Parts: sequence; C-alpha cells; structure tokens
Amino acid sequence: MKTSGASSTRKTVEQRLDKVVSEIIRKRDRVCITCDREPPLSAGHFMKRRHTATRWNLHNVNGQCMDCNRDDNWEVYKDAMIIKYGLEETSLIISLARADIKLATSELEQLLEILNKYNRGINHKH
Ligand SMILES: [Zn+2]
Repeated sequence: MKTSGASSTRKTVEQRLDKVVSEIIRKRDRVCITCDREPPLSAGHFMKRRHTATRWNLHNVNGQCMDCNRDDNWEVYKDAMIIKYGLEETSLIISLARADIKLATSELEQLLEILNKYNRGINHKH
C-alpha cells in the first residue's frame, strides 16, 4: 500500500496554520472573549475546528481562558461574538462554517503564506 505524500503535506500545512493562527490570536487578544479574564489565553474556536472553511478565520478564533475554552458554552460565545464583531459578521461566519467548503491544499498553502506574513508584522508590545 502506498502512503499518500499529498495527505501528509496537507496535514503539515493544517498544523502550521493552527500554530500561526494561535500565535496571532494570543498576540492580538488581551482578555478572554467570553469572561474578560486576563492571560494565559488559548485560541478558542467559535465554530468548531472540523469546519475547515472557518478553522483559520481570524474572527472565528479568539483568545479564551482555559476554563471558558473547556466549558465551551456556544450561546455565551455567540453573544460575545456579536458584541465584538457585530451580528452581520457573526452570522456570516456561522453560514460559512455550515456551508462546509473544502479548501484545496494549494489554497491552504496560500492562506498559510498570508497568515505568516501577517504574523511577522504584528508588534508584540502593542
Ligand atoms: Zn474565560
């Protein structure tokens, strides 16, 4: 049986995307989106990670304390999303996630390049 090089590449790209998004979020967010607690924060997903169309969307992922990330109350997260981004953007993210769009590996690679550039441009202190 031949192991697929393509799928291991995809997995690697996905792992790098998870990592860069997590770094961006932890530099960007100063408090937990759902309880306002201060760091340490982790990258908490509003629409679950299985929805690949929004898995690396910088509005779908927000800093969350360990307790909120674990407790995972979607209604509370949704209210916090509406306060932070507005109803329109929150609805758009929900629709996009549920549309279940499959991104090609080449598209993920492009996204990774953009996010890596963006991450390098973020000032740690600010
Ligand atoms: Zn919290």
